[in-house]
Amino acid sequence: MMKSGRCPKCSSDNVYMRKDGLQESFTIVLGFANTKQARTDDYICLNCGYFERYIENISDFQDIAGKWNKVR
Ligand SMILES: [Zn+2]
Repeated sequence: MMKSGRCPKCSSDNVYMRKDGLQESFTIVLGFANTKQARTDDYICLNCGYFERYIENISDFQDIAGKWNKVR
């Protein structure tokens, strides 16, 4: 993963991170009248352009477990 400072696609260490990412936050719709603002840490590999994004405040989104499809 990019958090380790190495790109998983091209193995380059030319990886940069920006706290709060490309946008300060964006809205995730969890249901009717139930939206939350996600803040992200965004990682970019300057060698191949691979981009990875992590939601910083993931503890605010645990309701997703009952709403989205679990990946198996
Ligand atoms: Zn790369």
